[in-house]
Amino acid sequence: MDFGFSEEEERFRQEVRDFLQNEVTEGLIKECDANVGYGPHTWEFLRKLGARGWLVPVLPKELGGIGATPMQQFILNDEVLYYRAIPIGLSGVMITSLLEGYGSEEQKREYIPKLARGEIEFAAGYTEPEAGSDLASLKLSAVEDGKDFILNGQKIFNTGCHYAQYVLLAVRTDPSAPKKHQGISLLIVDMKTPGITLQPLWTMDGERTNAVFYDNVRVPQKNLIGEKNRGWYVLTTALALERNFPTGGVRRVFEDLVAYAKETKRSGEPLIKNPLVRQSLAQLKVEVEVARLLAYRVAWMASKGLIPQWQAPMLKLFVTELMYRLGNAGVQIMGLYGQLEEPSKWVPLRGWIEHLYRHGARRAITAGTNEIQRDIVALRGLGLPR
Ligand SMILES: Cc1cc2nc3c(=O)[nH]c(=O)nc-3n(C[C@H](O)[C@H](O)[C@H](O)COP(=O)(O)OP(=O)(O)OC[C@H]3O[C@@H](n4cnc5c(N)ncnc54)[C@H](O)[C@@H]3O)c2cc1C
Repeated sequence: MDFGFSEEEERFRQEVRDFLQNEVTEGLIKECDANVGYGPHTWEFLRKLGARGWLVPVLPKELGGIGATPMQQFILNDEVLYYRAIPIGLSGVMITSLLEGYGSEEQKREYIPKLARGEIEFAAGYTEPEAGSDLASLKLSAVEDGKDFILNGQKIFNTGCHYAQYVLLAVRTDPSAPKKHQGISLLIVDMKTPGITLQPLWTMDGERTNAVFYDNVRVPQKNLIGEKNRGWYVLTTALALERNFPTGGVRRVFEDLVAYAKETKRSGEPLIKNPLVRQSLAQLKVEVEVARLLAYRVAWMASKGLIPQWQAPMLKLFVTELMYRLGNAGVQIMGLYGQLEEPSKWVPLRGWIEHLYRHGARRAITAGTNEIQRDIVALRGLGLPR
């Protein structure tokens, strides 16, 4: 089986690399490393991506894209992560796919051009204190009142809400529906609407996420995506799009770790002379390669219009657990230096390894926990009964 890319895809990859080499500035990397959301450098970078049609690449030129294939879109995401440019990925792709599939003409006109130009961002507003893995239990109520809905309730871990202009909010519009996944709707909510308050939450990897409270928040009914009470089906499309994990970020950290081991001496001997270090790096090389092939398979399936029902969950759980193993091995290889963070002058590789160790634990929870991914692989991949 040949996993090679076509000449055109390789040309596109080179074009993306040339762009990133010039445009990923120190300011942007610092902002991404700070993990507190988009700042001025990120917004500027988004606008530059937008000017090239790369925020919504699969859309045609007249809608702000470049008519890219799903494989080109994958290459773009992969390279952006390799260059450590955006921590959360390109959410424009997810929202535009949802609006293209389910949105009204007015919504498409209103949001897609701004997303394509990098002027706005959406946060994901799904999880609640009592509805995480069991998302269909969500309760935040949306009651019709004239031309509006009135929202009351609480969300938790809604990460982008402090810098995004809008949140894609999952709400309960029919509390008496016979099954809990029925009676859910999806709304676009402007974060500046009166009645919304945010409380910051800090994760163990130093990232800001939020608890968000809705107190009699008035949202126009025209902001409903798709049909009322049928939001679950839109939501599952959004979640599936989140699990397509390019591995560029992991690959970059691994390459940097190998370079560090080659360049660094301990007790006068290069680290790579140590048999334990060599064994550890060789094992990681195998796993990084497996991750890359799993990612290519998911991208290839998407390009053929196939749904990677268990292949995408398999990729998500493998890559996120690899982040943890890579962070762990890297910290061991670096010894006591491995635990340092910036601004320590002794910190190796800007603290990326140490951070990845903690970040892996966070990524194993978000976009569906890895236990849930294993459940999906068991159910759909192995055909085991529920
Ligand atoms: C840093 C961070 C950022 C996040 N960002 C967002 C965001 O932007 N928007 C958003 O909407 N959500 C976000 N989330 C929420 C995330 O998707 C949920 O935390 C996740 O789905 C798990 O839900 P929970 O925390 O309620 O845990 P629970 O669902 O209560 O799970 C607790 C534990 O039980 C296990 N478990 C639960 N059910 C099963 C089962 N059926 N089989 C096996 N094991 C099971 C889980 O794997 C987990 O280990 C974020 C979370 C974190 C930590």
